[in-house]
Amino acid sequence: MTPSADAIVVGGGVIGKSVALALAERGAKVELFDASEGSEARRPATRAAAGILGAQMEAQADEPLARLCLESRARFEAFAKRIEAKSGRAVEYRASGVIVSAFDDASLEKLEGECAWQKKADLKLEKLDRAALRELEPELAEDAVGAIRFVDDARVDPRALLDALDQAIRAAGVTIRSARVRRILRDGATALGVEDESGARHAKHVVLAAGSWSTLVSETGLAETAVMPARGQMLELRARPGLLRGVVLAPDAYFSPRDDGRILVGSTVELVGFDDRVTAAAARDLLAAAVQRVPALAHASLSDSWAGLRPYTTDELPLIGPGTLDRLIFATGHFRNGVLLAPITAEIVADLIEGKPPAIDVGPFSPSRLARVA
Ligand SMILES: Cc1cc2nc3c(=O)[nH]c(=O)nc-3n(C[C@H](O)[C@H](O)[C@H](O)COP(=O)(O)OP(=O)(O)OC[C@H]3O[C@@H](n4cnc5c(N)ncnc54)[C@H](O)[C@@H]3O)c2cc1C
Repeated sequence: MTPSADAIVVGGGVIGKSVALALAERGAKVELFDASEGSEARRPATRAAAGILGAQMEAQADEPLARLCLESRARFEAFAKRIEAKSGRAVEYRASGVIVSAFDDASLEKLEGECAWQKKADLKLEKLDRAALRELEPELAEDAVGAIRFVDDARVDPRALLDALDQAIRAAGVTIRSARVRRILRDGATALGVEDESGARHAKHVVLAAGSWSTLVSETGLAETAVMPARGQMLELRARPGLLRGVVLAPDAYFSPRDDGRILVGSTVELVGFDDRVTAAAARDLLAAAVQRVPALAHASLSDSWAGLRPYTTDELPLIGPGTLDRLIFATGHFRNGVLLAPITAEIVADLIEGKPPAIDVGPFSPSRLARVA
């Protein structure tokens, strides 16, 4: 039972691949198992994401998750550049800012109130009046009365990022196995490796990063409901490049532009199990919101649509760190912000495996809070 690797990573979405890269960069021999191909493919949420790096946009209060998001955003540009350099592929990281728009004065005032703590915490934001908003985003509907602009929030292309990460980890010597892990192998309270359909693989450490499917792996010690799929549906419209300059949120939809003129319009949050279909009703609602909030999109072509399964936890906090088993580290449950949180998650997991204290207190994200009750 000699370990074949220093670490086995279960899951090849943005979290698993970022963890694999961080570990390989620190000299570890890494094997990554991924089930995203084949007849019963578990398609990564990462490929469905809008790529909004909205640390301030998402922050409701000065809480641990907001701090985690801010720490990750601070690392994102360097992370993107490192992956581009290692893979030779562009990931379209853009420091575009994020605008949260309001369509009546009361909503604008409410937004401003919600952000008051951010100002006190010296986080950058601007209040835009109608004229300033039109100057920044001239195609936004005329009834937009103003907005809050989170200057340091950004965007990335999640599919390009995942493809580049794939190249980067291969270049760093990570072995990728296209297989579904069934269970964690253990000796008492210590994880020894994993078992897939072809047998057992042993490693000194195991990292569980299987997104929405994390609790389908047995013997992890997690409660069955610790991580659940939350479907998000998305439309892709093709318009002229630059129609929207940055990410824009409206009350009923958000818009995440790509350099080539595509605009992603999202999204729903639905607890409907592992159903990743696009429904007629959601497509109708998203299209209606798109044309109402950005009227020029009436002339755009509808180029694609998809749905993905966000790994949701009931307290909406990720699971990062050890649970009840020794040598098993969790990196899952990132819900709406897994792309944003990839750099900090990878750094924390690599630190924990090396036995170093992470840069940020991971207590609030402890998987033990969602352990199976014996
Ligand atoms: C519509 C939508 C919009 C979103 N927008 C944003 C956004 O703008 N910004 C943001 O930060 N986040 C966004 N998210 C959230 C983000 O996509 C997720 O939080 C993130 O992708 C989770 O990454 P992950 O690696 O944990 O999981 P996933 O990307 O789902 O990857 C999990 C991987 O594990 C594999 N797997 C599963 N079970 C096994 C097994 N037993 N053995 C081996 N492999 C297995 C799967 O095949 C898959 O490849 C969005 C999500 C959706 C659906």
